[in-house]
Amino acid sequence: MQSLLKQYHQHDPNAPSISAHDLVVRYNGTMALENVTFTVNAGERVAVVGPNGAGKSTLFKVIAGVLQPSAGRITLYGGEPERHICVAFVPQRTQVDLQFPANVRDVVSMGRTGRLGLLRWPRRHDRQLVEECMELVNVSDLAERRIGELSGGQQQRVFIARALAQEAELMLMDEPLNGLDVNSQEEIYAILDELRSRGVTVLVATHDLEQAARCYDRVMLLNRRLLGFGAPRDVFTADLLGQAYGDRLRISEIPDGALVWADTWCGGGHEQEEP
Ligand code: ADP
Repeated sequence: MQSLLKQYHQHDPNAPSISAHDLVVRYNGTMALENVTFTVNAGERVAVVGPNGAGKSTLFKVIAGVLQPSAGRITLYGGEPERHICVAFVPQRTQVDLQFPANVRDVVSMGRTGRLGLLRWPRRHDRQLVEECMELVNVSDLAERRIGELSGGQQQRVFIARALAQEAELMLMDEPLNGLDVNSQEEIYAILDELRSRGVTVLVATHDLEQAARCYDRVMLLNRRLLGFGAPRDVFTADLLGQAYGDRLRISEIPDGALVWADTWCGGGHEQEEP
């Protein structure tokens, strides 16, 4: 039975959250990532941007340990990705079957499954943690509600609570703000601020260049290759954005000299949140 239980890696306290060196991913001849090298420090909030097909999801799968790179090396806190339970993936709402008959507390409790292993029932500590996580993202009063009945912002908060219940130290979020109204977006950013204060590292894949520039510590510009990784003003240059988006991008001067960008390619997928 021992062999069925994963032996999880202990963190090296001096190692970065993510260290990737010369990562290459090929799918049957399609090059999805090419020689990608970067380091993310613990507690950083990073926006991962690039056009569709740029390799953002592929990178997240490699970090989450569900996809082996074709070449190169990646470590999380000094260890192999698949040996980490502290990595949580917060999916796009559109990728989740929201009709399954689970209530909010059930969904958040699923975050404990990996920690409990095969042989243990949830203990008081596990149940308490689930309640605390729901409280932190302000969904306690929805605990008995079916997940499918909630608004988009509420559902997103529940998925973040599930990642918190997993005691994730590295969270990968795929377009978490897509289709949310401004108030719900602000609530999610308040949660991200709280996570930063707890030293949780967060990578967010987003198409929103303006928010990426405004709300993150660093931005990663990806288009199969890593075109830039650093402060938005150093990465979001006309040259690098042009390399990433080509003619799918409009760049225009505004009166105070700043640039505004419009990603003309990724229309759709911006449905408004239902009340
Ligand atoms: P993004 O998340 O930025 O849209 P992806 O990582 O999904 O990009 O895709 C990167 C490239 O890899 C694309 O060319 C895509 O078609 C290809 N790709 C992704 N997943 C697979 C797969 N399972 N099989 C074959 N090709 C894939």
